Amino acid sequence: MDKKLITELKKKLEEEKEQLQKQLLTFADRDKKDPNDYDARYPDMGKYSSPDENAYEVGSYENLLALEHVLELRLQDVNSALEKINRHDNSYGKCEVCGKPIEITRLRANPAAKTCIKCSTKNKSKTG
Ligand SMILES: [Zn+2]
Repeated sequence: MDKKLITELKKKLEEEKEQLQKQLLTFADRDKKDPNDYDARYPDMGKYSSPDENAYEVGSYENLLALEHVLELRLQDVNSALEKINRHDNSYGKCEVCGKPIEITRLRANPAAKTCIKCSTKNKSKTG
């Protein structure tokens, strides 16, 4: 893959990683034993005196847990993509299912993509 493109995608990934961590830390604490694990704090409504600063609505604790889950999964994907880039073994940008290069347009839209368009559509229909 083109080095320039990898640099571009790496930058995107690093920016997204920062965003995800910031978002998680607004309502969750980082696990002391595992820095990649976050635990949602029970909402203390007194803290949210300026709701405009929060990009999301502060709902119930369940909503926070669901949001934490989504952000954490996304962070894991971003991290593993960055790891692949840093390994320099050309594993980045290859589909984990069929081993073919992932479409560049797809990587631009989602630099953490693990599968090509074909395999991701296959997966979706399987899991529903
Ligand atoms: Zn594939």
